Amino acid sequence: MKYISTRGQGQTKDFQDVLLAGLADDGGLYVPESLPTFSAEKIRSLKGLPYNQLAFEIIKPFVGGTIADDKLKQMIDESYDEFSHQAVAPLQQLGNNQWVMELFHGPTLAFKDFALQLLGRLLNHVLTERNEKAVVLGATSGDTGSAAIEGCRHSDHLDIFILHPYQRVSEVQRRQMTTVLDSNVHNIAIQGNFDDCQDMVKKCFADQSFLPENTRLVAVNSINWARIMAQIVYYFHAALMLGAPDQPVSFSVPTGNFGDIFAGYIARGMGLPVERLIVATNNNDILHRFFQNNDYRKETLHQTLSPSMDIMVSSNFERLLFDMHNRDGGAMAELMSAFQETGNIRVDDEAWQAIKALFDSSRSDDQQVCDTISTLHKKTGYLADPHTATGIRATETLELARETPVVTLATAHPVKFPDAIVKAGLDAPALPVHMTDLFEREERYDILENDLPSLKAFIQNT
Ligand SMILES: *Cc1c(COP(=O)(O)O)cnc(C)c1O
Repeated sequence: MKYISTRGQGQTKDFQDVLLAGLADDGGLYVPESLPTFSAEKIRSLKGLPYNQLAFEIIKPFVGGTIADDKLKQMIDESYDEFSHQAVAPLQQLGNNQWVMELFHGPTLAFKDFALQLLGRLLNHVLTERNEKAVVLGATSGDTGSAAIEGCRHSDHLDIFILHPYQRVSEVQRRQMTTVLDSNVHNIAIQGNFDDCQDMVKKCFADQSFLPENTRLVAVNSINWARIMAQIVYYFHAALMLGAPDQPVSFSVPTGNFGDIFAGYIARGMGLPVERLIVATNNNDILHRFFQNNDYRKETLHQTLSPSMDIMVSSNFERLLFDMHNRDGGAMAELMSAFQETGNIRVDDEAWQAIKALFDSSRSDDQQVCDTISTLHKKTGYLADPHTATGIRATETLELARETPVVTLATAHPVKFPDAIVKAGLDAPALPVHMTDLFEREERYDILENDLPSLKAFIQNT
């Protein structure tokens, strides 16, 4: 299995190198040169497998022999053993052909654990084999930071630095990061906003000369292919439970950076009968505007009750655009550099029509999210988090084939976002058992000015 860059110039790499690289040299994103495909018969043979065994079957072709099967199996087993629900990704039925798949039973209560539990272990394994050290550096506005820390904390080969905007993440989110006291975990509160944090991270990746020799910088945001790979699995898991390969299934996905839903698109490319993929956004609706009007245009950032989807542009969308341009890296390089200047992309009408046959979209504002949470709770007793609520509302407002099951991905546990629950007129839920003492635990983090040299010096001196 080889990986190529969406901008045509970056070196072709194998899985291990893509895992360590993050972004390609030409600024593009890595994608498989061609997808492994599963026949209906093969898909049928996966029915009933426990989640970790299914994960091994789906992930193995993407790893392409660069990690021994028994080692890969062990890492997958360990990753999903950390989940508190036996089914790992349980389905709940909300109504006729309406389902949610709960992706929040991992250690940090959001779907990001599915990829980052495995990513931490994969990195540790590859670095151990190569006898190398790496620095994981990332910025977080909430869920990514804690999931990455949980995934990396046990590695002797990794130091992890996570930047969050000082006093601008929720207390649960901050404490999930800062109460992890392992010596390789470094939380930094930057006196600035999330964009300042992100900007400093990007600059560190662009000029890595401040790092000691033989140390690499590794990206853990969703531009890293390994994250997409791990997320493909639960699309198979849900579809198999609802009758695939003999019954098609649709998915509604709360979307920010287009990582999670892109994994569903890949699952379909591998042969899974996915009928529709629904992009559910909050007021940060660049993707909704694209799917409605063929107008992908950067606008200002809105703060919403679903903060993990508060983005201006979607970093993984380039991977879909690449396919929409017949995988022409040269055309993509031009398109993306034009986007840098104009902040706007419009694609060929035929390609846009074709992609709309698969994707649909819906936008929900905060009021609609709260109404959805409260109505759903009244009707069914089910408590959805505000991200999940955008997905549920999408399935209710769009016209979908009634005979096709629709699965909304429940991307976070409602306890992480009590503000929205309270605004919906409901009681904030209690912390799960393994977190009940979260507010008594010791915290550790450093506060730094919004200043690149200070950050580089901090990383150097650690
Ligand atoms: C990260 C996140 C999302 C958005 O996922 P993308 O892959 O960026 O589309 C949605 N919901 C929650 C709770 C998240 O943490």
